[in-house]
Amino acid sequence: MSQDNLAKLECSQCKRANYFSTRNKKTLKNRLEMKKFCRHCKKHTMHKETK
Ligand SMILES: [Zn+2]
Repeated sequence: MSQDNLAKLECSQCKRANYFSTRNKKTLKNRLEMKKFCRHCKKHTMHKETK
């Protein structure tokens, strides 16, 4: 798998990358944004895709 398909999901509050996901052509147009549990904030926060 190439590095281009790898997306980091970063906590919008502490800015730490907690999750990794692969992106495909379907998700390329929109930035991934999902609510996930952040173990640093110890709560669910919005996680946004970064490069
Ligand atoms: Zn966090």
